[in-house]
Amino acid sequence: MSRKIDRLGRIFIPKHLLKVARISYGDYVDVSYRSADNVILIKQAKNKCIICGEKDNLQCISEKKICGTCIDKIKNL
Ligand SMILES: [Zn+2]
Repeated sequence: MSRKIDRLGRIFIPKHLLKVARISYGDYVDVSYRSADNVILIKQAKNKCIICGEKDNLQCISEKKICGTCIDKIKNL
């Protein structure tokens, strides 16, 4: 599919692509450029809990971010 970039550099990303990429309205994304194949990558920013999506009180476990609330829930399993 082709999308036109507006004069401010914005594009519309179809809802189904956001869904498969697990990106929701209001999420932060990382935007980068890969020169090997001239591709712009948009991926979900990693600064949120991988379980609930919380953005505060994150701790890193095996390179995954998990919030304090989810850590407490896991401890009580
Ligand atoms: Zn969480």
